[in-house]
Amino acid sequence: MSSVPSPGAVSNFLRTLIEKDLAEGRHAQKLWAGRPGPASVQRQGTPDPARIRTRFPPEPNGYLHIGHAKSICLNFGLANDYQGACHLRFDDTNPEKEEQEYVDAIIDMVKWLGFDWKFQDEDNLYFASDYFGYMYEFAEALVQAGHAYVDEQSPDEIRAMRGTLTEPGKDSPWRDRPAEESLQLLREMRDGKHPNGSLCLRARIDMASPNINMRDPVLYRIRHATHHRTGDQWCIYPMYSWAHPVEDALEGITHSFCTLEFEDQRPFYNWILERLAELDMLLHPLPQQTEFARLNLSYVVTSKRKLLQLVRDGHVNGWDDPRLPTLAGLRRRGYTPAAIRLFCERLGVTKADSRIDYSVLEQALRDDLDPIAPRAVAVLDPLKLVITNYPEGSSEPCQAPANPHNPEAGVRQFSFGRELWIERDDFREEPPKKYFRLFPGNKVRLKYGYIVECTGFVKNEAGEVIEVHAEYLPDTKSGTPGADSVKVKGNITWVNAAEAISAEIRLYDRLFLEPHPDAGDQDFIAALNPDSCQVVQAWLEPSIQAEPGATWQFERLGYFTADREESSIERPVLNRATTLKDSWGKNK
Ligand code: ATP
Ligand code: MG
Repeated sequence: MSSVPSPGAVSNFLRTLIEKDLAEGRHAQKLWAGRPGPASVQRQGTPDPARIRTRFPPEPNGYLHIGHAKSICLNFGLANDYQGACHLRFDDTNPEKEEQEYVDAIIDMVKWLGFDWKFQDEDNLYFASDYFGYMYEFAEALVQAGHAYVDEQSPDEIRAMRGTLTEPGKDSPWRDRPAEESLQLLREMRDGKHPNGSLCLRARIDMASPNINMRDPVLYRIRHATHHRTGDQWCIYPMYSWAHPVEDALEGITHSFCTLEFEDQRPFYNWILERLAELDMLLHPLPQQTEFARLNLSYVVTSKRKLLQLVRDGHVNGWDDPRLPTLAGLRRRGYTPAAIRLFCERLGVTKADSRIDYSVLEQALRDDLDPIAPRAVAVLDPLKLVITNYPEGSSEPCQAPANPHNPEAGVRQFSFGRELWIERDDFREEPPKKYFRLFPGNKVRLKYGYIVECTGFVKNEAGEVIEVHAEYLPDTKSGTPGADSVKVKGNITWVNAAEAISAEIRLYDRLFLEPHPDAGDQDFIAALNPDSCQVVQAWLEPSIQAEPGATWQFERLGYFTADREESSIERPVLNRATTLKDSWGKNK
């Protein structure tokens, strides 16, 4: 391993910060006992073998989405690049919304993205709920030192006394009660002697601070609720703004990267850690919070609350619906971990919020798949083409490259015959200008096969074309010396009806019709695209074995992946991951 960033890594303000901290030896003396803990534990350790420590701290209250991928790639990526460790920490301090199902799904997705929380012999998978004991101990120390007090005001009263951006807050009548009294009440709170909302523990900072987050924020609230890991052991739960810095410090995190909305919390983050260090509960150097801009992607919603609403109300089929921007949905749709990592790399990190167009994500997928995806032919809107001068019951072999970028991938085999499937759009009874495909009297190449000349067509009673007739030119087979003897402008794909595989194909469109479906207070449900999934029965070339998760580039059509849940070789079901070009909005 070297200490230089991975080749090609573009510098950014977070890298600059880490490099400066490393150069100054800011964390060089940090002790690490091999596990999270307060000063008394870390003091028994040795200088931390990890040069930096970062963390990805999801709350297990939903599935991860593409925004989380940005944070994952950043935190794990930076730790890897600077020989550090990145912890996966479940921020499970809110018992009412959290579930084991989400814990399992998050672990699955971080692994799928290709990241690992192991560092040397450490397994850095942690749960904030494991720190409830330390947090409580710290809270008692803060009370005893006069840095916290138990307030008897109701949550509404506290809110009313907090003041505004232009007016200072007012002191609680309980703010100056003796520490002994607060301590006694805190113990009663812990022991379950008080109902929800009747008491809370608050930091004692400054009700006149210009930063509202410093106006005696609540540290603990009473919640008689069963936690998915600690059961009924606790009935007081820490607030996020207090739990988070403590979690970082217990784990010896050096760089705590979070999104910009936490910028106003940074003074409190530092205040609480400094007080705990003074009380010898934590060791210096303390973690440092730095904010970056979150990912906002157009045509999707990424708030977990809104995703939950889409799932619960049946607007989509579960958390892994291929139309959702959840990582489980993107995986099912056909996104690869490499494409998502490439997308995050292209995003970079900045300090300014912006919106990224959905097409940037799609382009990352194309760029990842183009060199590696096997090619195949599919006909999504089939129309029968009969080669009237080709003998009935005969066939002959044709071949095509498995991947034109990679000759070593070899060739795929299929056969030519009398009855073929072509795309309905590749025939016109009356061609518009510059239409070079099939119409009566015109010649086209059947890709990898022969040149044919259209001789007629058959309509049903409703006036729809149900069959096209053509004659083939026997000397023009692709790959033979006569292939160039006749010049044509059109080149169309086809599959031999005698050997085509029937498949269900799901063509996805954007889930929302508007680029910013949840802008302002707008009802995002109203912006749902009613035609976001179109199901068609298609014909596939015989080389396709639709094992769940397998991906192809269907020539001219896009990238398609066999559905992980519903596809089988006998009954293929494929999802269109993306078209070949960004055509959205251009030819609808
Ligand atoms: P949501 O708002 O969707 O519920 P969250 O921020 O509440 O997301 P957490 O589980 O707390 O969800 O997020 C874990 C980490 O992922 C946090 O550090 C958070 O900053 C980061 N994160 C969440 N959404 C984004 C995003 N859109 N872009 C970048 N990072 C994000
Ligand atoms: Mg959050």
